[in-house]
Amino acid sequence: MPGGTLRIVVCIKQVPKAQELQVDPKTQTLKRVGVPSEINPPDRNALEFALQAKDAHGAEVVVLSMGPTAFDESLERAVAMGADRAVLLTDRILGGSDTVPTAYALSETIKKIGGYDLILCGEETTDASTGHVGPGIAGHLDIPQITYVSEVQVVDGRVRARRTAEDGSEWWETTMPCLVTVNFGCNKPREPSLSGKIRVKRGGAVVHWSCADVGIDPDKVGLKNSPTIVAKVDTIQLPPRAGKVFHGEPREAVARMLRAMIEDGVIAP
Ligand SMILES: Cc1cc2nc3c(=O)[nH]c(=O)nc-3n(C[C@H](O)[C@H](O)[C@H](O)COP(=O)(O)OP(=O)(O)OC[C@H]3O[C@@H](n4cnc5c(N)ncnc54)[C@H](O)[C@@H]3O)c2cc1C
Repeated sequence: MPGGTLRIVVCIKQVPKAQELQVDPKTQTLKRVGVPSEINPPDRNALEFALQAKDAHGAEVVVLSMGPTAFDESLERAVAMGADRAVLLTDRILGGSDTVPTAYALSETIKKIGGYDLILCGEETTDASTGHVGPGIAGHLDIPQITYVSEVQVVDGRVRARRTAEDGSEWWETTMPCLVTVNFGCNKPREPSLSGKIRVKRGGAVVHWSCADVGIDPDKVGLKNSPTIVAKVDTIQLPPRAGKVFHGEPREAVARMLRAMIEDGVIAP
């Protein structure tokens, strides 16, 4: 921020734990209520980058989420990990929003937070997995973006980031403010600290804003303003596994296994 402390906004989404993902057989939508949840895994990596920058440069880290009040759980965890404050954009009119209104609503909320230097998002979520929201926010705010990043450095008012490419990686550099989307597993997110947990216990770590608080146009959010339509959801029936075990000397057993896989049409000769 001009003349002030670096401000980093980290967008985090609360998602059902990957091993708990269930589809409602009636509505064919993902079950989100009553399912154990967690911070979307790459968002934890994004938060860790922000906290490392805070350790190195004294940044203010603000975590932001859009969703129901149950998302407080993840925001409180983020504060316990070291974020300075948390904002939850929560409003019934946001229900059913796809990635277009989500990116719009989050970008408006970031404007309301005030100045920002760096916005960090995960590469994608583990529930809807579109990877649209980060680039969408950067588009609304008209700021540069670097996506699929596994290393971030903040140097002299600029951001340098190592971006995963098809055949390796490439370094990109841009001015701030900018947005970076972070790869899953690129660092080891820290655990909540005792002092962080005490801060959360005292209350007030998370503020709730409605669309009216932020000035979000109700005609741009919610199900009816979401262009994505789920036409059909199919459950894939996996064929039963053969369960064949190839015993013997490893080199010779692998050769027999490969021959069997070619004969069964599993791999090409
Ligand atoms: C086909 C389909 C059907 C869907 N059906 C439903 C439904 O029935 N009910 C429902 O509630 N949702 C539904 N969604 C999900 C909804 O569209 C998403 O929650 C939302 O638009 C974010 O998209 P995403 O999860 O793909 O995020 P991505 O674009 O994959 O997320 C990238 C990053 O953006 C940030 N981000 C994403 N979402 C948020 C958020 N809410 N708050 C803060 N940061 C965020 C995170 O940093 C995340 O790592 C559906 C999505 C799809 C594709």
